[in-house]
Amino acid sequence: MDCSTDFEASVKSAFGALMAATKAAARLPNDISFHRTLDEDIDARLDRTGQRTLALANTLWTKARSDPSLGEIESTDDIALRTSSGQWEAAPGFRAVVEAVDTLLEKIDVGLDEVLRRPAHRLRAAVGTQSAPMVTSVAAAGGRTTDLKLVHASSVPRPQVAFKDVVDNSVSTPFVWKIREKPNALVPLDYGLPGATVAGTALGAHLASLGIGSHTPRGSGASSPRNDADEPALFDLPHPYAYEIKHQPPPAQLFVEQAPQEPKDWDETPFAFVDTPAQLIEMVEHLEGAAEVAIDLEHHNYRSYHGFTCLVQISSRTRDFVVDALALRSELHQLNRITTDPRVVKVLHGAESDIVWLQRDFGVYVVGMFDTYHASHVLNMGHHSLAHLLKEYCAFDADKKYQLADWRIRPVPAEMLHYARADTHFLLYIYDRMRNEILQRGRELVGQDVGTPGAAHFGRLAGMDVVAAATQPLELTLQRSATTAMNRFVKESYDADHGLGSGGWAALLRKWRHPFSPVQMAVLRALHQWRDTCAREEDESTRYVLPNHMLYALADRMPTEPAALLAACQPTPPLLRLYASDVARLVVQAKTRAEERMAEFRGVIEDVHSEVRPMPPVHTRFNEPMDAADDEGPATDVADVLTPELMSAAAVLMSPGAALFGRLDARPQQESEAMRRAREIRSNLVLTVVVPSAVLTGAEDMEVDAPAAPVAAKRPHAAATAAAPANQPVVLSETYAKYQPEQAPKQPKRQKTSDLDNLPTISLGDISSS
Ligand code: AMP
Ligand code: MN
Ligand code: ZN
Repeated sequence: MDCSTDFEASVKSAFGALMAATKAAARLPNDISFHRTLDEDIDARLDRTGQRTLALANTLWTKARSDPSLGEIESTDDIALRTSSGQWEAAPGFRAVVEAVDTLLEKIDVGLDEVLRRPAHRLRAAVGTQSAPMVTSVAAAGGRTTDLKLVHASSVPRPQVAFKDVVDNSVSTPFVWKIREKPNALVPLDYGLPGATVAGTALGAHLASLGIGSHTPRGSGASSPRNDADEPALFDLPHPYAYEIKHQPPPAQLFVEQAPQEPKDWDETPFAFVDTPAQLIEMVEHLEGAAEVAIDLEHHNYRSYHGFTCLVQISSRTRDFVVDALALRSELHQLNRITTDPRVVKVLHGAESDIVWLQRDFGVYVVGMFDTYHASHVLNMGHHSLAHLLKEYCAFDADKKYQLADWRIRPVPAEMLHYARADTHFLLYIYDRMRNEILQRGRELVGQDVGTPGAAHFGRLAGMDVVAAATQPLELTLQRSATTAMNRFVKESYDADHGLGSGGWAALLRKWRHPFSPVQMAVLRALHQWRDTCAREEDESTRYVLPNHMLYALADRMPTEPAALLAACQPTPPLLRLYASDVARLVVQAKTRAEERMAEFRGVIEDVHSEVRPMPPVHTRFNEPMDAADDEGPATDVADVLTPELMSAAAVLMSPGAALFGRLDARPQQESEAMRRAREIRSNLVLTVVVPSAVLTGAEDMEVDAPAAPVAAKRPHAAATAAAPANQPVVLSETYAKYQPEQAPKQPKRQKTSDLDNLPTISLGDISSS
């Protein structure tokens, strides 16, 4: 059959063949090697089938692989291995094929996008059908495989498109409270809001959209009304349950030791997957009578800018629930009836994020929380993970291989459901045990002063000299839990000028520790900003749009043609492919502008030098350190002047209109290391950096520090060499170590997500992580 003449028929036939093969494979007996020994014909046919499978896999792999130097998959054992328990396990070749297929699918998607001229994600939501979920190993650096497993599927439909609330990632608008009614309230929803003072402002309009705009502030209370004339910051909305969290007393029985209730047997515990409004109501009614409930969330943030909650797991003493948070997103606010009821203790583990996700996605808040993570700290336990507590108290081995699963997949695969349910099933028993231990510890410590080893912990933390009451450690636990419950969601901001923030370009630069030229820096900043804007608009994560290692490669190579751009990013992220010509144009723009500024920079340097002294030869390297004992000032060596940080800083200085040092001085606590360093040596660099930057930034009237000229005159050599970046070929990396004698170059700090960041994009597929 020719797929170019009858596409539909050929797809049908291919699909039929695939189904037949899948069915046949499923019928293969476990003891296949035994059968092979019995029957020569079976043995031969299996060999042939194996070879054909291998050839097919290699056809896909060799056509789609990004690096042609990678060899073929050599044996079927490299694709899948059967373990002693009879389970199939993916081998590295499997990942290669998955990657190849993903790449092909992405190419198809992008091809269709181009034809239909629609943003990639909307199209995918419309035509994407989810493939069968699969489990693959995560490759760690150096080709090792970790024991982390990813469950993912190709083309998982984007659940966001079905959300009733529109996802708004813009920086310019504040996050809108989802809550409109307030169960279990001590004070009304509009308590502490600025009211009349914000009429006519963006915040006022925002409040009006909630139907609470015309309020006049009440007197003092949990959150005091603002009285300044400025428009209040958009993110200053108070926590709607701040007053309740601070004032609702915990239930009295919490302070009484009780016999721990063993978790109900797994198979005997009634379990429900809740995905209809009726089931949700039934669940909430069941939970309303409970003295305590355990809650946990599963989240997805790879194919979304801010991320979204996919599952909410809840356990009572007798039942386990897993709620489909995608299907019931706009109904889940009903959970507030339980979560804000102080008589029901909410037990969570490490709820820092859960609290934020609950309010962001459902407008759900928690009053009366016991966080077992805080409990583990108060008890001075060595480890604080839920997995550790499960092992310690329940002898249960949590299978963390699903931690990074794609929780959007529906129906949720059985083993993922099992994992999710285990996160809350045992938690109330763990709570019983920990609470008792904390109360016991409190009794033992009463009257002891902080000098006593055990008491020191509680006493110091509670700001007291002696442990005054047996309840003190428990109060400390609850107080810390309450502080966590006070977390508020705020949208990610973006700092183009200084690259501040955890996702900012300054943090990336620190991680890379490789000197970029000012021109490369300009390109990096332009691309970084494009990536953020694109991710917000398409509602994708920045690492889906353009992973860090590709951002780095682009800044390094500065490709100005779409083809070169795509060649530098293999396998190409779909959105980069879609916007390749825009991005290439952006590179050209950033590059040209920066080069123009550098030319001006050079001009100014030359002018200044011709006035101060005759222009010395320009050194592109500086190999003879000047006299180290020279104590006339900090600049004794070009190394002191021309650090990579300074290069970065110099590029920062080129940001349009940056009233450079003045602004830095005004933001001391947000100052980056590069900026600090730049400021430290600024007096020696006024000639080489500040003056030109004033020109570059268009701030010609900027004041120039007086000491500059004498310093430069005294150190013509250093000053001239410092001017070299303007002349491009400064080689920094070779002698990098000596630039920081007291601080040898460190290995980049291993981040929690580093394994993920280093994976090829496509194999990441549709995988959640953070
Ligand atoms: P948990 O509280 O362990 O059930 O985790 C809740 C969510 O946090 C998961 O669904 C993931 O989205 C995210 N998460 C947990 N652990 C990790 C990790 N090690 N790396 C990245 N994301 C994680
Ligand atoms: Mn959790
Ligand atoms: Zn969980």
